[in-house]
Amino acid sequence: MEKIFLCAISNINSGTCNEDCKFCSQSVKFKADIERYKQKPIVDIVDEAKTAYSNGALGFCLVTANKGIDDKILNFVCDVAKAVTKEVPQLRLIACNGTASVSQLQTLKDAGIKAYNHNLETSENFYKEICTTHPWSERYETCQNVNKVGLKLITGGIFGLGESDEDRVSMLESIKSLNPTSVPLNFFHPNPALPLKPKKLGVDEALSLIRISKEILGDDIERLMVAGGREITFGDRQDEIFEYGANSIVIGNYLTTSGRDKSKDYEMLERLGFGVATSKDLKNA
Ligand code: SF4
Repeated sequence: MEKIFLCAISNINSGTCNEDCKFCSQSVKFKADIERYKQKPIVDIVDEAKTAYSNGALGFCLVTANKGIDDKILNFVCDVAKAVTKEVPQLRLIACNGTASVSQLQTLKDAGIKAYNHNLETSENFYKEICTTHPWSERYETCQNVNKVGLKLITGGIFGLGESDEDRVSMLESIKSLNPTSVPLNFFHPNPALPLKPKKLGVDEALSLIRISKEILGDDIERLMVAGGREITFGDRQDEIFEYGANSIVIGNYLTTSGRDKSKDYEMLERLGFGVATSKDLKNA
């Protein structure tokens, strides 16, 4: 039986970023109508971790909305990682905290973080169209730093920003060059506050992007995850993402948008004959 890896996200700091990524409602520049807070109470994050584990999630991702890590964020994420590890040691902790140096990543690793997620987002060439406050090269460099400290690398991107087919292939080739364990594919979720107003991806086009991703990334990538934008992009055809190569999904809510009720995802996995992955199913534990 094929097993699907489930990952849950905790937005441990929300909507406080000064960067200007045009697809991101967490930027303070666009004044999107989202919840904003500096630090979620650790006791609440631990409760979310317990719920995520009881819902079948194996990955639990601690996300902060800033360009990168400073001492305050580093200390907070480490405190959260230690608290969650103590209460729910079965979860594989992922940190997603923006650009990071080798020594910051080593500190996270020492605190119990197993993997680091930093997305390339799009091609190097197209990146300047969607962000003017930092370069794509910083994103690539952080991913290289993740590999240097021996954390598992999770890096992916977002489709539907108005990028060309060439940009998509270029992004996927850059991702492949970093040899990640897991690749999250996000699909743009429009928000009226955001300056980006691209044409919406059709379901067939979005499914073909999963297939192209699988073809370019190859079988060395352990997990191809359909992450943000699944519901809004695939609607009642979410079953089909697995035929095209996805073997991982986010369960529950995303950073600033709601996912569908988890019971619908379980019903989908059961109907399709899939199991839910546990740590024993990881090639690369
Ligand atoms: S750096 Fe990250 S959190 Fe900040 S605006 Fe860009 S994508 Fe959003």
